[in-house]
This record gives sequence, C-alpha cells and structure tokens, in this order.
Amino acid sequence: MNETESQRAELTAAELPGESRIEQQLRPENLQQMIGQNRLRENLSVFIRAARERLEPLDHVLFHGPPGLGKTSLAHVVAREMGAPLRATSGPAVERPGDLAALLSNLEAGDVLFIDEIHRLPAAVEEILYPAMEDFQLDIMIGQGPTARSMRLDLPRFTLVGATTRAGLLTSPLRDRFGWVARLEYYSAADLERIVDRSAGLLGIHVEQEARRELASRSRGTPRIANRLLRRVRDFAQVADGMDRAIDRERARYALECLDVDDSGFDRLDRSLLLTLLEKFDGGPVGLDTLAAAVGEDRGTLEDVVEPYLIHEGFLARTPRGRVATRLSREYFGVPSRDGREQPELL
Ligand code: ADP
Repeated sequence: MNETESQRAELTAAELPGESRIEQQLRPENLQQMIGQNRLRENLSVFIRAARERLEPLDHVLFHGPPGLGKTSLAHVVAREMGAPLRATSGPAVERPGDLAALLSNLEAGDVLFIDEIHRLPAAVEEILYPAMEDFQLDIMIGQGPTARSMRLDLPRFTLVGATTRAGLLTSPLRDRFGWVARLEYYSAADLERIVDRSAGLLGIHVEQEARRELASRSRGTPRIANRLLRRVRDFAQVADGMDRAIDRERARYALECLDVDDSGFDRLDRSLLLTLLEKFDGGPVGLDTLAAAVGEDRGTLEDVVEPYLIHEGFLARTPRGRVATRLSREYFGVPSRDGREQPELL
C-alpha cells in the first residue's frame, strides 16, 4: 500500500472521537432502519433517489439539532444509500487549512465527507471549503513570503454532510452553500419505544412493553439517551435477577430511580437548572452566564444540551432579558412566586 492509499484507509476507518462501540452497533444502517423524523426521511430518500438516477453525487447537506438525535447516523445512511465511502472528521480536528486541503485532495468522485460540529471549523479553514463546495476547486498557497503563489486544483465531485448542534453559529456563506439544510426534531414517545425495541433486539435483551414505554417516556425525546438508559436498566436487571429474566416495568422504574431520572425524564442537571431559576432567582429573567455559574455548569452545555429540551417541553423560555421559568415549571416543582405573581412576564 503506498502512502496515499494508507492515508485513505486511515480516513475510511476513522471514527469520531468518543464514539462508543455499542453506539456504532445500534446505529441504523439505511433509511429503512431509521425510525421517526418522517418528513426528513421522506425528503432525503427523494433527493438520494434523484441523485442516483442522474448518476450524480448528492448535493451538500447540513443536519442540525440537539445532540443524540441522529445526525451522525444520517451521515452514515447517506453514504450507505449512495453506495459511497464515508470520510469522517470534525470541526475541532481540522485545525489548519492544510489539514482540510489534505482531506479534500484525497477524496474520490462520489465520496461523502462528513464534518461533525462544523460550526467549530476555524475561519481560515472554512474559506478553503467555499470554492471546494461550490466549484469543486481547491485553492492552495505554495511557498511563503514574496515568492508565494496560489494554485488552483480541480477536486472530484463529492458530497459534504455537515452536522451541528448550533446552526445559529454557522456563517451565512457556509450555510448558503448547502443545497439542503435539515433540522432534526425531538422524537415522540412512540418512536422512542420502537427505537428501544430495535436496540433491545440487537443487544439480545428481552424488555416487556410496559418497560419499553417507561424508558421511551423518560428519554428526553432523544434516541441516544433511550439507548443509554436501556443499557443501564439491563445492568440493574442483570445484577438483581441474572441474565435470562425479561425486564419488566418494576425493574425499569427501579433502575430509572437509581439513575435519578424523574417521571418526565428530567435528569439531575435539568432539575438543578429549573430549581435554581425558581428558588434563587424567583423564576427569572436571569442571564445565562449567571445561571451557569449558579448551577456550576458550563454555559455551552446548558445552551446546547439542557435548555433545548426544557424549552421544547415548555418549562423554560429564552427572552431578551434572560431565562425565565414558565408557569408549567412552577407547577411541576411546586414553587410559588415570592410576590404572588403567577408567572414572570415573558418579554
Ligand atoms: P448525533 O450525531 O445527532 O449526536 P447519533 O447519530 O450519534 O446522534 O445518534 C446517537 C444514537 O442514537 C445512535 O447510535 C443510534 O443508535 C441512535 N439513533 C439516532 N437516531 C436514530 C433513529 N432515527 N433510529 C434509530 N436509532 C437512532
């Protein structure tokens, strides 16, 4: 194998940092195995079919939405359905323009390049991406100082699949170069039940329907959390009863209680954020930095991971003056407002 081939092999085998082996095992492999996100799946299948019929690569696509909803899975599915290899990397991993130039110049026609956390690409790297996405051209600088000159190389036609939890942080030139921008939504309890069922089958665990329902309703609308809870519930069941007994509702409820997941699927951090807001700041409005300091959590985690679900469920609102706990939140935690106001004004 020459050097270029070995680089290609490395790229093919490259998996994203932190991705667990089990998550890969549970990852849907094609559109049919993907559950939920119906509108997105239908659109994607049309675009894939049309591109295949024209014998062209798929147009560049951006998936955005909270973590764990299936963006990486969709990138794998796109490659699989297009019958093309997937080259995967992530925004923070591509530090210099040369890193991206190396990646791009190793692509072959039809390849799918997946860039996770694409909003974290450095600006100088992003600029290389513009002509690559639009005209399949790579501008590189050769040499330094007065003798430096720029060279233009043709690239094969490839598909860029970008994923981000923060579409708002993407620059508009980058965003505009995607032919399709698709948002992933939180999953319904019914879809999550099907996901738990599928994962249990793949892991060889027998989970009774009521236990599946319990897990689905407490997974914050997120398949990754549903799968994680399923594995933890299996651990509890295995230690208590041995391997061969099915997981029933009681087992599931007991394990979820031990894991500090409440009836609405809120975990410790969800509750901590809402209770801090209600008890220390009388429901808000309060700025995100103050809230993050009071909860002892990083601002980015609150913004990307914790808040979107609480907002989606109607427990929290973002206002120009800061975060506000809604009436639903007060009622859920039974914390009345100090001055008797029912709900802070949502300005
Ligand atoms: P993201 O990239 O958005 O953080 P992933 O694609 O890594 O999310 O998904 C996390 C896990 O959730 C995957 O390993 C997969 O098992 C599961 N998953 C996500 N979406 C689906 C889906 N639509 N159907 C079945 N399982 C899914």
